[in-house]
Amino acid sequence: MTFTIVFLIAFIASFGMRHWLSLRQIRHVAQHRASVPTEFASKVTLAEHQKAADYTIAKLRLGILENGVSAIILIAFTLLGGLEILNLSLLQLLGEGVSQQIALLVSIVLISGVIDLPFSWYKQFHLEEQFGFNRMTKKLFFSDMFKGIAVGGAIGIPLLWVILTLMLKAGDLWWLWAWAVLSIFSLLMQWIFPTFIAPLFNKFETLEDGPLKTQIEALLARCDFASQGLFVMDGSKRSAHGNAFFAGMGKAKRIVFFDTLIEKLSPGEVEAVLAHELGHFKCKHIRKRLIVSFALSFLMFALIGWISTQAWFYTDLGVMPNLNGYNGGLALALFMLVSPVFSFFFTPLGSLASRKHEYEADNFAAEKSSAQDLISALVKLYQDNASTLTPDPIYTAFYSSHPPAPLRIANLQRSHTSH
Ligand SMILES: [Zn+2]
Repeated sequence: MTFTIVFLIAFIASFGMRHWLSLRQIRHVAQHRASVPTEFASKVTLAEHQKAADYTIAKLRLGILENGVSAIILIAFTLLGGLEILNLSLLQLLGEGVSQQIALLVSIVLISGVIDLPFSWYKQFHLEEQFGFNRMTKKLFFSDMFKGIAVGGAIGIPLLWVILTLMLKAGDLWWLWAWAVLSIFSLLMQWIFPTFIAPLFNKFETLEDGPLKTQIEALLARCDFASQGLFVMDGSKRSAHGNAFFAGMGKAKRIVFFDTLIEKLSPGEVEAVLAHELGHFKCKHIRKRLIVSFALSFLMFALIGWISTQAWFYTDLGVMPNLNGYNGGLALALFMLVSPVFSFFFTPLGSLASRKHEYEADNFAAEKSSAQDLISALVKLYQDNASTLTPDPIYTAFYSSHPPAPLRIANLQRSHTSH
């Protein structure tokens, strides 16, 4: 019973806090809708500013609805007995065994996916469409979905089989082995994803010779950065958003630009944006994030290792365990459903670290490229993404991985004048 109460308190607090933060952000953006912030008056029109406000508010409203639906689903699965019913029916159908446990986890993922489907549909074909950002056809939407399920299944099911078998056969320290397997797997994915998976969804072409390529190669030489080639990705077939590119890792460090980015920014601006991304490598942010994620998943597995042997963890959350047998899938399912309710409260720590890294990468870009170019690139990207220039400070502190545009630009202007 105790854990039911602890869970309910965390559940209500996290649900309420998400709701409150969204309402704050909506109110703040709406209050500043009437006029462009003075520092942007020469760069952003009133119509663009109001479009950003409307788009931000529309996304937040949809988020509030999603928050409500996922709260209902969580309670339905746990305290109302949904997971118990699912587990018992699969036991009847498949009997005890690793395959029943895999079926349980796969069913939960599929059920959540089906419930999420109308939301992603609405987001893509109504919300994004309404603001002129959608470039995706309905055919592509479904082909992405089926490819995603196929790839997820081909990778996820064998991985689950390994973890569930370890839970069953590797003794008390199974979680340590499972953590090691997952860590090695996630390192492998850094290579598998860009090489085999990303090409299933997008076309990658080498960046053609020209002023942009020359300028970028000069930047790479200046930053002493070895890459395995420059590529352009057809991001425009899904969205008009001017997305930044990503860079692969390890020895296969490819630099990938979204075609939408190259269309919208001048070569100098693309260079400045790339310099920012290189800053993340050179300031060792990528490595730090990887180490932190390994440490966190170690703690998480240690916690599952212990909690999966406690009867109250199951009974207090509405399921009957079988602690002598195949219980791994049930433990993982419960943990997967319930842990976000608790981990939500640590969100601001991750956001804070991320915002600090963004400033460092901006400073690197200002030094190796041009602060002025990065500022004009940021303004263009904010316009193109219809991102709000006037976020609520508490919402930002809690969620934002990037500092608000006015603060980033002020920081860049300082480093510009100091050079
Ligand atoms: Zn960044």
